[in-house]
Amino acid sequence: TARQSLKNSIWFYDLQLHEDEKLENYVESRMYQALENREFKMYLQPKIGLASGKTEGAEALVRWIPDDGRVIYPGQFIPLFESNGFCVNLDMYMVENVCRQIREWIDEGLEPIPLSVNQSKLLFYETDYIDNMKALLEKYKIPADLITLEILEGLALENIDELNEKISRLKALGFRVSMDDFGSGYSSFNTLASLKIDELKLDRAFLMRLTESDENSKRQKTIMKEIVELTKKLKITTVAEGVETKENEEFIRSLGCDFGQGYYYSRPISAEEFSEKYL
Ligand code: C2E
Ligand code: MG
Ligand code: MG
Ligand code: MG
Repeated sequence: TARQSLKNSIWFYDLQLHEDEKLENYVESRMYQALENREFKMYLQPKIGLASGKTEGAEALVRWIPDDGRVIYPGQFIPLFESNGFCVNLDMYMVENVCRQIREWIDEGLEPIPLSVNQSKLLFYETDYIDNMKALLEKYKIPADLITLEILEGLALENIDELNEKISRLKALGFRVSMDDFGSGYSSFNTLASLKIDELKLDRAFLMRLTESDENSKRQKTIMKEIVELTKKLKITTVAEGVETKENEEFIRSLGCDFGQGYYYSRPISAEEFSEKYL
């Protein structure tokens, strides 16, 4: 409920205000135990195919739900996990959850919905990342093309040849690869030109900025239109993030976007709720 989430945010707000370090200590001292206790939950947010109007995919988003029922959002721990390295463990745990969920749907005789999962850049520096991914596919006996790996474009700023090599190996296993939050940071045409990605997710900042003054909004629209057109010419699928209104949807459909994702359709919901609603 709104009241609960307010309470939760105040709890963190307090800690952050007075005891930033204490929050970090709390998170760091509990993270391994939390992983062990299965306190990290997979939530799923539908990805709507704009042509069909149906849920044709979903993104897995982590929520940390300790025993006391608080819900802790990724913004409050992912950056820390990125800096202390724990993201590698958490991300592999999430990939395994995604595999397990797909296997469950198949076993129940349901048509599995393709899932996307966020991959920290740390994974790309792990020597056994690709082998571990392969092992998970074999363990759960699922086709990799039901899984899309979302990476951030910041990765492309580091070693683009090395990154491309890893992407090729993941694609050889059958995974789809997506560029997340495109347009939020140092996006460049070089990213589009050199990375062999299957999907591009337009950062929600694009749609947010449409409410700005007329002139700015016009420029934003032009840029979005051109990105979608260019992307389609490169045979890359497009997803607009942060669709919050009917107007947003109408606009992205007019651009020729393939998918929309956002609160207009659904917030991220628990995997159980998602299965009941969409499978
Ligand atoms: P992201 O991958 O770009 O995921 C989309 C975020 O936007 C999610 O926030 C989602 O709840 C939110 N969102 C979706 N639709 C709307 C909308 O219409 N309006 C607004 N205002 N927001 C919307 P969330 O779940 O808090 O996750 C934030 C970020 O944390 C993610 O951004 C992703 O970068 C990271 N993250 C989440 N789960 C994982 C994970 O398992 N591993 C890693 N490495 N990062 C994760
Ligand atoms: Mg994402
Ligand atoms: Mg995103
Ligand atoms: Mg994001």
